[in-house]
Amino acid sequence: MRYMNINAVSKALSEAIEDVRVRESMADHTSFKVGGDADVMVVPKSNKEIMHAVIIADSFGAPLSVMGKGTNLLVTSKGIRGVVLKLADNFSGMVFDGDCVSVKSGTPLAALVREAASHSLGGIEFLGGIPGTLGGAVTMNAGAYGGEIGGFVQEVYLVSKDGAAMLGHDEMGFGYRKSVLSEKPLIVTGAVLRLKKCDAEKSKKRLSELNGKRREKQPLEYPSAGSTFKRPEGHYAGALIEQAGLKGFGIGGAQVSEKHAGFIVNRGGATPEDIIALIVEVQRRVLQNSSVMLEPEVKIIGER
Ligand SMILES: Cc1cc2nc3c(=O)[nH]c(=O)nc-3n(C[C@H](O)[C@H](O)[C@H](O)COP(=O)(O)OP(=O)(O)OC[C@H]3O[C@@H](n4cnc5c(N)ncnc54)[C@H](O)[C@@H]3O)c2cc1C
Repeated sequence: MRYMNINAVSKALSEAIEDVRVRESMADHTSFKVGGDADVMVVPKSNKEIMHAVIIADSFGAPLSVMGKGTNLLVTSKGIRGVVLKLADNFSGMVFDGDCVSVKSGTPLAALVREAASHSLGGIEFLGGIPGTLGGAVTMNAGAYGGEIGGFVQEVYLVSKDGAAMLGHDEMGFGYRKSVLSEKPLIVTGAVLRLKKCDAEKSKKRLSELNGKRREKQPLEYPSAGSTFKRPEGHYAGALIEQAGLKGFGIGGAQVSEKHAGFIVNRGGATPEDIIALIVEVQRRVLQNSSVMLEPEVKIIGER
């Protein structure tokens, strides 16, 4: 493999991009609060810096991964080889035009919902309690309480080493927690969403009701990546896990939440491997008990 000189890659990146970090702990960048180091992390502020990162990583043959706020990621202890592009707070912002809003990929979903309400635009209140970014949500087709972001997306702006591109809604292949981007190494830089006209106060009330429901039902007091598994057709993952007698079951510092069995939480001191071992054990016991194979919703990345 051509690549492996971290110092050379980070030096070249630093010459073109302001915020470049070497051997950055992924535990500081994921909601599970675990994970080894990324060789190099780049936190770009502009499309130009993103393009530089893509071209430089490619010229060194360095693998490039993209992330938002790391709220659906589980990084292994050995960490991530190559360059991690983090598109979050430094790459955020939105512009309203009629009932449409153009949103940069690092924008937190909560900020999008709040700002939309102040422009009397809504319909997306279900996104307000999801702790990720616009880019992560579009890639995963994030959703809750019967809504999915894909239903509001008009256009998605992308970059790759081949340049910039735009996909319309019909080309995005939105499905349950997936889109065409789940399988392709493309970077979302932004998207245009069409929202619904609404009463600002009603929208804020709906948001606060939904967030109240989350606080009541979900173990938000512990680090996690939200629902660990996708909802299997015709079932609820949490109910199947509970029926298998696994509520509260733990391996090391990882535990099936006592509050909501659909969440695996870090009770303190969990290693990524504790969490992975617990995921596998839950899959095994649920398969044995209900003949249903649970599919992780959480993305496991990094060197094994
Ligand atoms: C407490 C809690 C509750 C949650 N509740 C929900 C919920 O109700 N519904 C739901 O759907 N999810 C939920 N999640 C999971 C998570 O917040 C969402 O999947 C969110 O959309 C992930 O966004 P992110 O920015 O954190 O992405 P990350 O976790 O950083 O990345 C997730 C995936 O998206 C890709 N990605 C991220 N940004 C980009 C980009 N700019 N371009 C290309 N690919 C990109 C990454 O490569 C990765 O494959 C929850 C998580 C937590 C911790």
